Amino acid sequence: MRDALNQAISIIEGALAEGGRACLTCSFQAEDVVVLHLLRQRLPKVPVMFLETGYHFPEVLAYRDQLTRDWKLNTINLQHPKPTLHPDTPAECCAQRKVEPLIAGLTGYETWFTGLRREQSPTRANLQPTEQHRFPNGLELTKISPLYDWTMDEVFAYMTVNDIPVLPLYEQGYPSIGCAPCTHKPEPGEHARAGRWGGQKLECGLHTITVKQE
Ligand code: SF4
Repeated sequence: MRDALNQAISIIEGALAEGGRACLTCSFQAEDVVVLHLLRQRLPKVPVMFLETGYHFPEVLAYRDQLTRDWKLNTINLQHPKPTLHPDTPAECCAQRKVEPLIAGLTGYETWFTGLRREQSPTRANLQPTEQHRFPNGLELTKISPLYDWTMDEVFAYMTVNDIPVLPLYEQGYPSIGCAPCTHKPEPGEHARAGRWGGQKLECGLHTITVKQE
């Protein structure tokens, strides 16, 4: 745990030393909250980008508001101005309610912190701690994932040691939490994101719409 923590701190401090405008995208799942806890010690008013899709569990919104209040966060709720699409067309709904507001929200930043981990899904197995990404509109960012090789046990251990409250939905058996209509509990032995979108897809598009620069 100590090695993993020192590594995460080193990744964060190295990224901040580059000096670009930095923000964190945060769904208030456990790994995002760990990155936020580490980041705000170094950048107290770091913009915390939350995608307000209109379909979150009430527990997620209450937890977001609780941490925003208790930690005096600079939370920014990103929202499509007039969303019209719904979860019965998940690709289009995610594009409108998540990807479009994300691109608008990230414009103006150079450094994008995330709570992504390799273990979360086969789609994230090759994640690197520092990656350069380009969006379809030309926006380029350095994407930083300080917990890229952490286990879920390490995430929860960090939260316990630091007395950080945990989103109650984990206790109800959800290992990965997104919009309520598209979040189900995986079957025993399945990876954490297997219950998202009823198995139709594993990513909403936030982390696959960009082109990774080699
Ligand atoms: S996760 Fe579901 S409800 Fe949320 S934006 Fe995507 S399709 Fe829509």
